[in-house]
Amino acid sequence: MTLAARRERRKVGTGLDPAILLAWYDRHRRRLPWRAPPGDAPDPYRVWLSEIMLQQTTVKTVAPYYARFLERWPHVEALAASSLADVLKVWAGLGYYARARNLHACARVVVEHHGGCFPDEVAALAALPGVGPYTAAAIAAIAFGKRATPVDGNIERVVARLFAVEAPLPGAKPDIRRLAQGLTPDGRPGDFAQALMDLGAMICAPLRPSCALCPWNDACAAHRLGSPESFPRKAPKSEGRLRRGAAFWVERADGAVLVRTRPLRGLLAGMTEVPTSEWSHDFDAAVALRAAPRVANGKAKPAWRKLPGKVTHVFTHFPLELVVYAAAVPAPAHPRACASFAAPASMTRRGRA
Ligand code: SF4
Repeated sequence: MTLAARRERRKVGTGLDPAILLAWYDRHRRRLPWRAPPGDAPDPYRVWLSEIMLQQTTVKTVAPYYARFLERWPHVEALAASSLADVLKVWAGLGYYARARNLHACARVVVEHHGGCFPDEVAALAALPGVGPYTAAAIAAIAFGKRATPVDGNIERVVARLFAVEAPLPGAKPDIRRLAQGLTPDGRPGDFAQALMDLGAMICAPLRPSCALCPWNDACAAHRLGSPESFPRKAPKSEGRLRRGAAFWVERADGAVLVRTRPLRGLLAGMTEVPTSEWSHDFDAAVALRAAPRVANGKAKPAWRKLPGKVTHVFTHFPLELVVYAAAVPAPAHPRACASFAAPASMTRRGRA
């Protein structure tokens, strides 16, 4: 930590008065469909449902799904009594389908083991399917008024700036969590958590934060240093080793494209993709072509044509490079296994944060 940052950190503390943030929240809070109006008791079912849907997904994307779910299943007993297939159908398009499966499993656990009432302690909430530490703390604080502090990426950013935390992420996470917990008041912890969420979403944006409008700007160390955007500090990215592979674009005469679903665990779990070879460090095109999908059309194997160029993508821990092979097959073609033909018009883009 630099000397200037240390000095600033000493100055903050008394200035970061929760009452100031709560007063700002009372005037400027976002009106969100899952939030109880001021003075009304929050419904734990609605808080839980919204928190699960909001995991890695934007407010704008979630809002219509939340409305549809609530209309169809207005309480946890109704959701628990439904079939998983129905839940997946209404969830379709929201992405990250493990959430829908856990949502359904969680509703059944709450009904069968908790008498239809969500537990109110962080540890018991975190034991429910699909409820991680952040979601457990958010439900405990918002739905039950427990002094818990949910810390997601937005709140991490706000707190790292308030205290000008010099240690880079992800190593600084435990420190930032401790600092956030230290800020949480005994009174109105649920509103305080939502105030931090709103501050991160509306004022303390990743780029060009609106410090002039921030209720805590007097006490914010990063603002005093004049470099809010440089926090949270990030460790230099480790590039990871390049993986390479081949993707197979098979188009049937009626325009349908061959797709498959990825395994339910691991990278891009449950997502739909065109078939690919293994992604490896020692990619060999001839070996990859031997693993190309087979399509039963009563005639010869697809005639593969290599398309020019490459598709590249950088995951958090490795870069990927794919060459693409294309083939056209006649209309009555059927895939051999674990894949199906889908009309491009039936594929929807999934919303993400
Ligand atoms: S003063 Fe600026 S950097 Fe500090 S918390 Fe407020 S918006 Fe974020």
